[in-house]
Amino acid sequence: MAQNNLTGACLCRNITYRITLPDPETYPKLIICHCTHCKRYTGSSFSANIIIPQASFEYTKGTPNLYTDSSKRGVQVLREFCPDCGTPFTSRSSDDEEVVAVKSGTLDDEYRVKCSELEMEIYYHRKDGWVDGLGGEEVKRVDGSMGDS
Ligand SMILES: [Zn+2]
Ligand SMILES: [Zn+2]
Repeated sequence: MAQNNLTGACLCRNITYRITLPDPETYPKLIICHCTHCKRYTGSSFSANIIIPQASFEYTKGTPNLYTDSSKRGVQVLREFCPDCGTPFTSRSSDDEEVVAVKSGTLDDEYRVKCSELEMEIYYHRKDGWVDGLGGEEVKRVDGSMGDS
C-alpha cells in the first residue's frame, strides 16, 4: 500500500475505508469536538476527528447507514455509522460538501498513531469537567464551530 493512503474500519470490520492524502509527508491534525451531539454520537465525552477533503475518502467494503442530524444553527449534519456494530465513521455538514470529519479512532492502528497532533478543540464551552489539558497550550480552543473564533 502506498504511503499516502490511510485505512480504517469499524469494530466488526464489515465496513472498511481508505483515505488518499495529497501529501504523503503530512498527516491530518486532530480536531476535538466537545459538542453535546458528539458526546451522544460517540458515547464518550468528545469526538476526535481528522478533517479531510470529501473526495479523498472512499469506502472499500460495506455500506454505512446514514443518520441525518441537525445542528442548532439549522444545518444538517450527516452522520455515517456501521449498521452492524454501531461504530461512527464520519460527520459532514450539509453547508460544506467539500470536507468530511472522520472519527480518528476508526483508523487502523499504524495510521492512527501517525495522526497524533492536536490542532483545535471546538465547542470548548461544552467540555466535560474532567477533560483538561489535551494537547498543551498551543492548541486553539473555540466555543463554537471551526469557523468561529
Ligand atoms: Zn461494524
Ligand atoms: Zn460535535
